[in-house]
Amino acid sequence: MSFIKKYYNIAKYILYPLCRSITGKGTLKSLNIIKKEFPKLKIKKIPSKTKVFDWTIPKEWNVKDAYVKDKFGKKIIDFKKNNLHLMGYSTPVNKTLNKRDLLNKIYYLKYQPNAIPYTTSYYKDRWGFNISYNQKKNIEKKYKKNDTFKVAVKSKFNLNGKLNYGELVIKGQSKKEILISTYICHPSMANDQLSGPIVSMCLIRYFQKRKKLERTLRFIFIPETIGSIAYLSKNLKHLKKNLIGGYALSCLGDEKNHSFVFSKSGNSPSDEALIEAYKKLKIKNYKSFSFLHRGSDERQFNSPGIDLSIPLLCRSKPNLFNEYHTSLDNFKLVTTKGIRGGFEVAKLAINILLKKIVPENLVLCEPQMSKRGLYNTLSIKRNFDISRKYMDFLQYADGKNSLEEISKKIETNFNLTKKIYYKLKKFRLVR
Ligand code: ZN
Repeated sequence: MSFIKKYYNIAKYILYPLCRSITGKGTLKSLNIIKKEFPKLKIKKIPSKTKVFDWTIPKEWNVKDAYVKDKFGKKIIDFKKNNLHLMGYSTPVNKTLNKRDLLNKIYYLKYQPNAIPYTTSYYKDRWGFNISYNQKKNIEKKYKKNDTFKVAVKSKFNLNGKLNYGELVIKGQSKKEILISTYICHPSMANDQLSGPIVSMCLIRYFQKRKKLERTLRFIFIPETIGSIAYLSKNLKHLKKNLIGGYALSCLGDEKNHSFVFSKSGNSPSDEALIEAYKKLKIKNYKSFSFLHRGSDERQFNSPGIDLSIPLLCRSKPNLFNEYHTSLDNFKLVTTKGIRGGFEVAKLAINILLKKIVPENLVLCEPQMSKRGLYNTLSIKRNFDISRKYMDFLQYADGKNSLEEISKKIETNFNLTKKIYYKLKKFRLVR
């Protein structure tokens, strides 16, 4: 069995049923299942109430059971049948409601009558149930105005809880790093949840066996938004010093077109490597979106002061496919063929990024070029002068531009730019 099929099956049969959230046992259990495959995965914890930039880690949320019973004692909505039936972070409830009050607590999608929607309320106390529109119509038809329903949400909040995330590092020959981030916080959905972790597992498996990695690879499995904010607040200094790029992975398992959201700069080494990968794989019909269409953790990775220049890599872009955030996002939508396609793009883009030259200036301000014999010591008006090109190169060698990008910026052909790079490297002015 190929490793793609293996991780696909683990996701489909073991991870899929678990009730994950931004905190809680379902997410921890999911991380432990991934750790079984990759013992080097470190599971890290951040306590509830910890301040992370402008946010606070919320209380840990766990659910034992949740249901609605009719007057005959029949469960008409059952969390145990599908965890999407319960709104994420629902507060505990134990009461009897009439039909109208019950329907007020129910969410459904009229235009997708068979789909159970996914809802959450992480930062405001609330509870609710999600059902398909057809199921809601049934309840309306079957029960009378005065019928009563027993509603139970057996959830618990722990003020001394934890937010868990997973991290795995594959050391390369250089300390310079590439970050691969995927989120783990959604309950039973396949594309917008498990496809990212499946592709990450495939990548870990592939790169652990690849010899002589040029750079270090860092994989993280984090709860979306609060997890990336928490991770960045703990690791920003290290990332800013060592990261040359990376990718946020989401919705990579369907068989539709490939797509991606550019990093905020739009021309980072990671953006370039991705476009090169599509080209090499002869994928012509991919869609690209500007950073204005951001949606997942790339929002945090590219924000001012963080500036890690990380694009979002997907097949169908989150919220642009019909099944998104509903029970229809399942393993009929996500196939091994879809995952393979997502994996191939990510693998090649990372392989290109591992080799990409991203020059970094080693001195502050302009170096004194004349003492190195790199500058004409007689200052006089002149036309073309290679020393001017050296200075131009050094201005853009900030560890964020690839050699290709610098060549464009300094309006100099690639071969000469490359020669300039090796010359400056020899003089230890860049690395
Ligand atoms: Zn989502």
